[in-house]
Amino acid sequence: MIDFNISPVIGNEMDFISETILSHKICGDGPFTKRCSEWFEERFHVNKVLLTTSGSTALDMALLLCDLKPGDEVILPSYTFSSTANSAVLCGAKLVFVDIRPDTMNIDETKIEEAITDKTRVIIVMHYAGVACDMDYIMDIAKRRNLMVVEDAAQAVMSEYKGKALGTIGDFGCYSFHETKNYSMGEGGAILVNNTDYIERAEILREKGTNRAKFFRGQVDKYTWVDFGDSYLPSELNAAYLWAQLQKAEEINENRLAVWKKYYKAFSEITDKVDLPFIPEYAKHNAHMFYLKMKNLQERTEFITYMRKRDIFTVFHYIPLHSAPAGLKYGRFSGEDKYTTAESERLVRLPLYYGMAEEDTRTVIEETIKFYGE
Ligand SMILES: *Cc1c(COP(=O)(O)O)cnc(C)c1O
Repeated sequence: MIDFNISPVIGNEMDFISETILSHKICGDGPFTKRCSEWFEERFHVNKVLLTTSGSTALDMALLLCDLKPGDEVILPSYTFSSTANSAVLCGAKLVFVDIRPDTMNIDETKIEEAITDKTRVIIVMHYAGVACDMDYIMDIAKRRNLMVVEDAAQAVMSEYKGKALGTIGDFGCYSFHETKNYSMGEGGAILVNNTDYIERAEILREKGTNRAKFFRGQVDKYTWVDFGDSYLPSELNAAYLWAQLQKAEEINENRLAVWKKYYKAFSEITDKVDLPFIPEYAKHNAHMFYLKMKNLQERTEFITYMRKRDIFTVFHYIPLHSAPAGLKYGRFSGEDKYTTAESERLVRLPLYYGMAEEDTRTVIEETIKFYGE
């Protein structure tokens, strides 16, 4: 059997978790949390990285920091995970969905400007499959139209746009360390506070509305409730797990990329039958996923069944949000849905994970090619 995903286990997870248990300090913001945040801050040149309980709550924090008023509008792609949209709904915003580019499946940057109204406040971009959106173009719109930018970089840890780490370009970047992502802590995430005006507010928001972070740094002599907040700190147990993974960040990345490249090379032989992922010149990706785009929905369904019969698990995802029940309730599509629905229906994801056996990669390739031979 070939699983679709197996969450990475590196080796030191158990030691670090034991160390945490024996310290009798398993709540948040202990030594492992600190090590993880500093790792990202130093490596990606970010002012402030705060670990959160999930990628979804990192997005919630980002949108809460944008300080929206009911009726404000948020622009986002429809081809994304529900969490991207939930964060805006939480803040009472109206969702305005923009079509994707068929090559990268990312938001079509050229269609953003026509979706802007006098109510628009935020653009959320999602770097699909860890492949960067055209950030120069998007940041230029945001600057000219005075909008904030949130990067849903849940899939994009270790990916880059023109040499800059994804998640570090917009006002806020959001990572996920869910077990299906490249680096895991079971459930968890991080918010990158790139806009330094928001660092203090972000710390308060994350610490139940208190200035406890300042207190721990000795900047105030007592801590108190200063603004609205919630609890977004993950337990040290989870952070200890993530720390083990970050020790091998490079190795995990290279291992995944090797599988991705094998797929890409093999399927380059059948581009008369399938479309392959496209990596723009400006992007360096992290092999978060490998997908193929087939002729249509029917062919994809037949393929998934064919592979399933051979004990190989392939999956599709993202019923476009604008056509989902909650999407209809909270949002509208700007312009024409030229690619979102059509492209989403023909995309299928192949098994790809750290430590995938070469033999399994070969089997997936052979069976896929056989499917097209029959
Ligand atoms: C995984 C994912 C999220 C949510 O992350 P969780 O850690 O599972 O909450 C958000 N957006 C995108 C695009 C994702 O892939």
